[in-house]
Amino acid sequence: YARQVVDTLASPSMQGRGYVNEGDRTAAKYIADEFKKAGLKSFKSTYYQKFSFAINTFPGEVSLQAGSRKLVPGTEFLVGSSSGFISGEYELLWLDKSTAGDKKKLKKLLKQKNEQKIVVVDTAGIQDAFKKAQSWIGKAAGVIHIREKLTWDMSQAISKQFSFEVIRGALAASDKKAAVKIQCKYIPDYTSQNVIGYVEGSQHADSFIVFTAHYDHLGKMGPDVYFPGANDNASGIAMLLSLARHYAKPGNKPRYSIAFIAFSAEEVGLLGSQYFVSNPCFPLKRIKFLVNMDILGTGDEGITVVNATVFDSQFKQLQKLNAQGSYLKEIKPRGKAAISDHYFFTYNGVPSFFIYTLGGIKAYHDVYDKRETLPLTEFEDLFILLTEFTSYIESY
Ligand SMILES: [Zn+2]
Repeated sequence: YARQVVDTLASPSMQGRGYVNEGDRTAAKYIADEFKKAGLKSFKSTYYQKFSFAINTFPGEVSLQAGSRKLVPGTEFLVGSSSGFISGEYELLWLDKSTAGDKKKLKKLLKQKNEQKIVVVDTAGIQDAFKKAQSWIGKAAGVIHIREKLTWDMSQAISKQFSFEVIRGALAASDKKAAVKIQCKYIPDYTSQNVIGYVEGSQHADSFIVFTAHYDHLGKMGPDVYFPGANDNASGIAMLLSLARHYAKPGNKPRYSIAFIAFSAEEVGLLGSQYFVSNPCFPLKRIKFLVNMDILGTGDEGITVVNATVFDSQFKQLQKLNAQGSYLKEIKPRGKAAISDHYFFTYNGVPSFFIYTLGGIKAYHDVYDKRETLPLTEFEDLFILLTEFTSYIESY
């Protein structure tokens, strides 16, 4: 079942679960349908909790061409997420070891006017010069960053300067001009939605154990590139739905109510979970424990638990259960970290863990985070561990 969920959510039809072609809505509909099939209850008349935010999107053409060579979107270049609408040819000014490797060269370079040009920044070996050149780089029309790995993100605003990330080797120092095109669409009030369901507890119906995972990802960059987000976080939704199906079965009915929340707009800045915490479907005080799951697709090296040091006794119990069942290689403790949807709950006094798997593939926020290569190595062991941990939470 988990494989089927990942395959569906990371498929091209989900458009990267972002805000181009309503990818988020398609994914939310799929999750709501799965909730319904499992037999989850909803707090309101639907599973959806709607909210709005500003977002910069790239539904149109994005291209970067040096001479006659068109770079490949996704694998050779990414558009900076805060870039505005742009089209034109620009002269390239390189800031790298050969042009800024010593003080004299750097001084000469920084005297050049760059307001109508693109600065190509390759920081390899020139960290100090790069720092000194910051304000000069800031004046350029655009910037190209040479990277070892391309990593995308999302932006809620458009900056004056457009930018690209280019993989090392895709541009040569002999490239002196580039033709660029970015057709962005800024949406000041996009409406997305969290998807929320629950199983009613048999003894403590008004108290909740909560599982959360974000279903959104980075969406699309131009017509041809989508970010599948198999590990981040189709894998977490696969676990959320697996647990929901498990606890909805009459034979597995929990004593406490268990809520399942699939958040949107995590990648924009934890917006879905922030909205929920401000507009909860049940009092936050009634949450006995919350487990947030983000990036569960590997596990060869075990898992990390954020907030382990804050909720020490629960963490020790989790380690004990793991040792007894010899499920995962290692459970690493980590302190507080504002890196996923547990954050606003923690901030508001809700006891919570955030779990992510370790080891395996390195793809992250790129076009390589695909369903085909996602191993789901420890998925079943982690599933069992989470059900045992839930029983423990119910027992105190
Ligand atoms: Zn994530």
